[in-house]
Amino acid sequence: MANKVVCPKVFRDLRRFARCLNTAPTVPPMNFTGNYGSTNVTTPTLQPTDQILVNPEKKVINFDDVKELFTGVSTSRLIRSSLTLQMASIESMVDLGIWVMNSKFMHMPIFKEVILGFVKRTFYEHFCAGKDLIEVGKTVSKLSSVDLKGMLDYGVEHAMDNESCDQSMNVFLQTAELAKSLPSSSVSFVVVKITAICTPKLLKRMSDLLRWEQKDPSFNLPWKQKTLPLFAESSPFYHTLKRPEPLTIEEERDLQLGHDRLEKICKKCLELDVELLIDAEDTAIQPAIDYFAYSAAIKYHKDDHPLLFGTIQAYLKDSKERMIIAKKAAEKMGVPMGFKLVRGAYMSSENQLASSLGFQSPIHDSIQQTHNCYNSCAELMLDEIANGSGAVVLATHNIESGKLAASRAIDLGIRKDSKKLQFAQLYGMAEGLSFGLRNAGFQVSKYLPFGPVEKVMPYLIRRAEENRGLLSTSAFDRQLMRKELIRRFDVATS
Ligand SMILES: Cc1cc2nc3c(=O)[nH]c(=O)nc-3n(C[C@H](O)[C@H](O)[C@H](O)COP(=O)(O)OP(=O)(O)OC[C@H]3O[C@@H](n4cnc5c(N)ncnc54)[C@H](O)[C@@H]3O)c2cc1C
Repeated sequence: MANKVVCPKVFRDLRRFARCLNTAPTVPPMNFTGNYGSTNVTTPTLQPTDQILVNPEKKVINFDDVKELFTGVSTSRLIRSSLTLQMASIESMVDLGIWVMNSKFMHMPIFKEVILGFVKRTFYEHFCAGKDLIEVGKTVSKLSSVDLKGMLDYGVEHAMDNESCDQSMNVFLQTAELAKSLPSSSVSFVVVKITAICTPKLLKRMSDLLRWEQKDPSFNLPWKQKTLPLFAESSPFYHTLKRPEPLTIEEERDLQLGHDRLEKICKKCLELDVELLIDAEDTAIQPAIDYFAYSAAIKYHKDDHPLLFGTIQAYLKDSKERMIIAKKAAEKMGVPMGFKLVRGAYMSSENQLASSLGFQSPIHDSIQQTHNCYNSCAELMLDEIANGSGAVVLATHNIESGKLAASRAIDLGIRKDSKKLQFAQLYGMAEGLSFGLRNAGFQVSKYLPFGPVEKVMPYLIRRAEENRGLLSTSAFDRQLMRKELIRRFDVATS
């Protein structure tokens, strides 16, 4: 990823271009709570239990020195990234793009080819690691050259039948083989989506039954294996309003096939010494996803380190309570437990479902409460790690959450090279935070979705949603990149 030598005239032209790149208003510095200083966001309301005792002035991550921050990143990559993120920040363009992708035009072969070709050369290349394992391997090597690791995520979303579940399982197994074949320091995890190895329809049925069993412990689930607690006192139950029918013989058989697939993946990963991350999805099916993750985590782990990490979505009101209960139960069983901590990516569908059923949203009432919950869950896991138990992947683009966790880890004396604490950002997002944490000595991964353009479309649409708007997640990154581009052009032309 060395810088290319470009003649001064080109640099002069590019300099002018770079100034135009970021049309966003200058982003005010972020305050301690994770919001931008002068926006109309309400004043922080940290609960006493959510206070994180670190000095906000202490600079653990240095964003001021952009030269150091983007060391090893080529100028062409910076320009491409800035352009793509700039495009994604234009709301009308994102709306139009999403409308086109969902329109009947996509059934017209020529139109579809043109659109997918455009998406491939822009958003896909920016946010995805390649179409197959060969291309992913190359992306991992490039990341490794700048001291970032890869989390390999086969970008398939939902499987529709046993045949497609088997196909996904085979790709997960091949992905684990690829991870093993690459230098061990270059891959942190293989990501598994339970919806790719067990159909969402069955996961929904299982979730309903698991919820009903929680309400009525006499309700018998003959298929249920040993697992960790899936619900807390505060967990919502509106998804299951009437007693569900038991699983049919066919459904039980499909469920067994789902278990078999996950077990095959776990056995392979244990044999290859490759760790697994299980993604979280929406609450209608999340109890079944947690059930799969926890029952496999009980069976497959290393002596004192988890093989498999589940995911907690801090935007859910019951997330912290659920995490604590599951962690405690695992501890009692002597099972090392790892969590990936995210805020959550299904906000609009969660809100829509709850309101359509006439219930309150399961998501915190304000973004500030989500920030507090995330930071408080991170703090709790860091304390656990410092006390010798648990492991966490802090998956976030939020600068303040990154700073707070990094400061806290240092204060607690957690070794920066410890496998128990890792940071992660999505490929193509929050480059400033990834490089800042890397420069501070922490272990940082990029989450690398791969697969053909059509398969990763739902993922790309979620990224477009997240990056839209001038004050979106990417605004701070665009500002840092712009600053570095101008600095490089100044150096080249002076
Ligand atoms: C490595 C990695 C893996 C991921 N894996 C998953 C996964 O398995 N499952 C999953 O769901 N997501 C996953 N995500 C996406 C993640 O959940 C977030 O969508 C994304 O990272 C943005 O959150 P943030 O922490 O970066 O913070 P920010 O960008 O600061 O926070 C934005 C988030 O805050 C929340 N929010 C916004 N407005 C409100 C409001 N009014 N009230 C309450 N909450 C609000 C939303 O969750 C929103 O995405 C992953 C992200 C990363 C980096």
